[in-house]
Amino acid sequence: MHIKRLEISGFKSFADRTEIELPPGITAVVGPNGSGKSNIAEALRWVLGEQSAKSLRGARMEDVIFAGSDGRKPINYCEVSLTLDNEDGRLPLDYREITVTRRLYRSGESEYRLNRQTCRLKDVIDLFLDTGLGKEAYSMIGQGRIDEVLSNRPEDRRGIFEDAAGIVKFKARKREALKK
Ligand code: ATP
Ligand code: MG
Repeated sequence: MHIKRLEISGFKSFADRTEIELPPGITAVVGPNGSGKSNIAEALRWVLGEQSAKSLRGARMEDVIFAGSDGRKPINYCEVSLTLDNEDGRLPLDYREITVTRRLYRSGESEYRLNRQTCRLKDVIDLFLDTGLGKEAYSMIGQGRIDEVLSNRPEDRRGIFEDAAGIVKFKARKREALKK
């Protein structure tokens, strides 16, 4: 499984639709300060279901929508699509290519899609549990995450290993079952 493409439209500094192709191998994003490198990583986390505006450096979720710039009006909604190669079937969906889409309007209305079919946030989260890719998974290591790996608190470190070992989905199901 690998990320093939990221399409960003109206998200943060990406007012125009921008397509980022990620061929197999290593891709590095370079650019001057403020050019949008971190915004790309945030778009990736956002489409995977990130719910914390603060962790996306905003006060409210609406702040991820392009807010306008000199000579350019604000935009009404943003949309990010992430396309993954699923040739190896690691994602439990019977498709060779999977596209996850999230859209948000200024009104607060939002929408998730899996291969163009409307779905729930929960479907997106469940799909990525134990794959190493979810919004908090070990495949995305932010600056703060390094501290977690180095942390002395065993519980902090354990979370990363649990995701790698593939038991997070069982823990999530147990939690849900206990609630009922
Ligand atoms: P650095 O090298 O300093 O880490 P960077 O390349 O990671 O920089 P980002 O933090 O991704 O840069 O981009 C910051 C830019 O995104 C700022 O110019 C900021 O104004 C712009 N930006 C953030 N949110 C929005 C928004 N909602 N609408 C328009 N522009 C936005
Ligand atoms: Mg940055």
